[in-house]
Amino acid sequence: MLEARAVTYEIRKKPILEGVSLTVAAGEFVGLVGPNGAGKSTLMRLLAGLAEPTRGEVLFEGRPIGQIPDRARARAIAFVPQNTHVAFGFSVYDIVAMGRYPYRGRFGALEARDREAIESALAAVELLSMADRRIHELSGGERQRAFIARALAQQPRLLFLDEPTANLDVRHQIELLELIRALNKERGVTIVMAIHDLTWAVRTCSRLLLLGRGRLLAQGAPEAVFTPELLRRAFGVEGRLVRPPEEAPRVELTGTVRERSG
Ligand code: ADP
Ligand code: MG
Repeated sequence: MLEARAVTYEIRKKPILEGVSLTVAAGEFVGLVGPNGAGKSTLMRLLAGLAEPTRGEVLFEGRPIGQIPDRARARAIAFVPQNTHVAFGFSVYDIVAMGRYPYRGRFGALEARDREAIESALAAVELLSMADRRIHELSGGERQRAFIARALAQQPRLLFLDEPTANLDVRHQIELLELIRALNKERGVTIVMAIHDLTWAVRTCSRLLLLGRGRLLAQGAPEAVFTPELLRRAFGVEGRLVRPPEEAPRVELTGTVRERSG
């Protein structure tokens, strides 16, 4: 579905990403992990066609992503950014309705199928009863769910989520991850999600990509990515992946290392 070929991205000649090659197959749930500043957000923007690589290319369904018209791309790919800017004065419904933009007709009026998509997205994140509330009056978690509903209303085949659980309390983190997992399993939406919590990454994603200082250090199953050596190299921590019998797996962190080498 998605392929990056030797993607390099520079800002004022400074490399942010270097030689990143990867593929994402339809139906996958890919987790993107790595320390702050590794380039996760930048990589997701490039993969979503929201920014252009300095060198290399990104193909979506076999086509260079930059050649896909914005409207067609927005029907296929949605992106939930890390910092959802609070659009002052908009209602929750207005925010979610923005997800219908790539489907609107010439005059931009909402049609019956748009309203259906909006309502079903609001229902999926349990915000139907808050549709008329102002977005800036919501809690962080509710707001996050509103922006996820906007992405759902877009009815994408591929959904990018940039640290969607970052501002949520533990209960809402679990609920949100379950919602995303259901989207993937039940509706077949392909997911690429940046996430800091390594244990949740293991429990939620079918495959992991590990970024360190702009390079892809490893990709594959959690066993291949969360080795003590790679945890040291990427994050500067001592840790390991444990799979206790009859319990959910977790990444156990036991300390830091003095030098990061990744
Ligand atoms: P992550 O999401 O993994 O924390 P980012 O993709 O946000 O990492 O950033 C990767 C690196 O690129 C960081 O060192 C960051 O400072 C730098 N960077 C990101 N955006 C810009 C920008 N607009 N101008 C300069 N540097 C940037
Ligand atoms: Mg980021």
